[in-house]
Amino acid sequence: MKDIHVTQVKHMSFAVHDVDATLSNYKRLLGVPEEVTVTEFAKSRNRVAVFDLGGVEYQISQSMDPDGRFAAWIAARGGEGLHHICYSVDDIDAALETAQARGAKLKECSACKIMGSHVHPEGWVAFLEDDVGGIEIEFMQVYTPEQLAEYAVQGI
Ligand SMILES: [Zn+2]
Repeated sequence: MKDIHVTQVKHMSFAVHDVDATLSNYKRLLGVPEEVTVTEFAKSRNRVAVFDLGGVEYQISQSMDPDGRFAAWIAARGGEGLHHICYSVDDIDAALETAQARGAKLKECSACKIMGSHVHPEGWVAFLEDDVGGIEIEFMQVYTPEQLAEYAVQGI
């Protein structure tokens, strides 16, 4: 069985009530560039600001519906915060197999309603039910340029 090899933090995802207000605070207090904007994703029904800060991609997410993924999470935990960390792995199938052999359970992707590894815009992703220190785990095997041309899907 291969070990789980995390190569980098792909992104950190934060759940917020108001992505516009949060983004303006990142610009005001942390120097995020003015040109960073909010994008609406129709499929997952989220409004998201994505930017690099200190070499890590931040995704600031607001649900467009009161029962959406991030809104429900905020309601359940009683406040905004770090929703999940996405870890790049060099082999997502091996990482999932090893994690499951060590007792982890797969979690359905709330945008795609799929368990386990599946295509997303930047790579194959999968979620675990198991958290570490209260933070949800997402794995991503980032596409090679050739895979990107073949698998890239928009709008998640
Ligand atoms: Zn998905």
